[in-house]
Amino acid sequence: MPGQIVLEDFQIESLLNNNNYAAAADYLFNSQMKSWELLKKNYDALRNVQTESFWFNGVKLKVQFNPERFKSTSAEVDEDSVKNRECFLCVENLPDEQKGIKIRDDFIMLCNPYPIFPQHFTISSLNHKPQSISESFSEFLVMSRQLSPQYTLVYNGPACGASAPDHLHFQAGTKNFMPIENDIQQLKNDFGKIIQEDEIITTSFINDGFRRLILIESTEHKMIVKTFTRIYKAYEKLFQDDVEPMMNILCTYNSVFGWSVIIFLRSKHRPEYFYKNDPDRILISPAAIDLGGLVITPREEDFIRIDKELLQQIFREVSLDEKNFSLLAEKVKA
Ligand SMILES: [Zn+2]
Repeated sequence: MPGQIVLEDFQIESLLNNNNYAAAADYLFNSQMKSWELLKKNYDALRNVQTESFWFNGVKLKVQFNPERFKSTSAEVDEDSVKNRECFLCVENLPDEQKGIKIRDDFIMLCNPYPIFPQHFTISSLNHKPQSISESFSEFLVMSRQLSPQYTLVYNGPACGASAPDHLHFQAGTKNFMPIENDIQQLKNDFGKIIQEDEIITTSFINDGFRRLILIESTEHKMIVKTFTRIYKAYEKLFQDDVEPMMNILCTYNSVFGWSVIIFLRSKHRPEYFYKNDPDRILISPAAIDLGGLVITPREEDFIRIDKELLQQIFREVSLDEKNFSLLAEKVKA
């Protein structure tokens, strides 16, 4: 790894040595705000972005008009486009101003210069290898615990939202900024079906009418990995494809209740509206953060046009259909 990418700082080193990853990330963020002009400009702009909230049966979706996200929302992620571009997550291609902190052995945590959250990070593998949750889920859980005092962890599958499907990465964002983090227990109570429950772990399948998600709650790392693997295998079998079955994941950790893993199941990457010509086009490309209730519209015309019905229609279209969702629940239960 090129040495200059790691922020060399006595304070960060001491925070990391004490396993205080969240404080180290916060320190990195503040340091980059001082030294990286583009970053500061974009975070300052984020403070004034327009948002609008919509309510569905007592749960919230928030729409954020964020012009800086145009590039990532509209990114071409097909195999050829990815092959023909330089990988923007490989450390040798990062901007000169960018610094990071090492997380675990082979990840680096970097400030995202095109933020959605008040603090938004990319945690990318130091090796260029494909985005894959089956290979990295255990690490993902550990990291979410390490960063949990301040951040929530995000994973987007290679075929449903990852902007670099060829380079393993997660995101971390300011805790409790996505509405679902506050709404999840209500969603579970109102729309959930408990598939597995004992003193160690609870797994619920939740269908709120426009999203299909699975919630795994436990304090036991091993049990979550075991349950996730079982779900993953059953889900993979439903499609028999050679790519990872489409899912987006959010993960939080709390010292009393342990982990909450929210897995959104998908049927497609982007809605029909995305591919229409203007003026019919709506540039929304739903991934974990959007499904978590924080929907990004990079264009003002879409922000103005979006309403409750369109949001529901778009979410319903990209979410796993009810039939397969029930089928999966049966298989996981068995
Ligand atoms: Zn790469």
